[in-house]
Amino acid sequence: MNDSTPCCPLCAAALDPRHGEQRCPGCHAELRFEASCPDCGAPLERLQACGAVDYFCQGCSSLISKRRVIFAITPVDE
Ligand SMILES: [Zn+2]
Ligand SMILES: [Zn+2]
Repeated sequence: MNDSTPCCPLCAAALDPRHGEQRCPGCHAELRFEASCPDCGAPLERLQACGAVDYFCQGCSSLISKRRVIFAITPVDE
């Protein structure tokens, strides 16, 4: 599967999944990334340590590899 690169829901431009919020390079919409667990669907906690980002699922009580995280992308209304 090669679905790890998220796309803008508005213009389908490829986005960088590393940031919690970012501006779309295509349509300049403000977007929010919400990580959810691929196993139970719960929202994940983002843990930032030493420049690396890990995701932790409260439901599964385990760390989720960044490659397995499901990103929901929603436009941010200002
Ligand atoms: Zn866009
Ligand atoms: Zn989970």
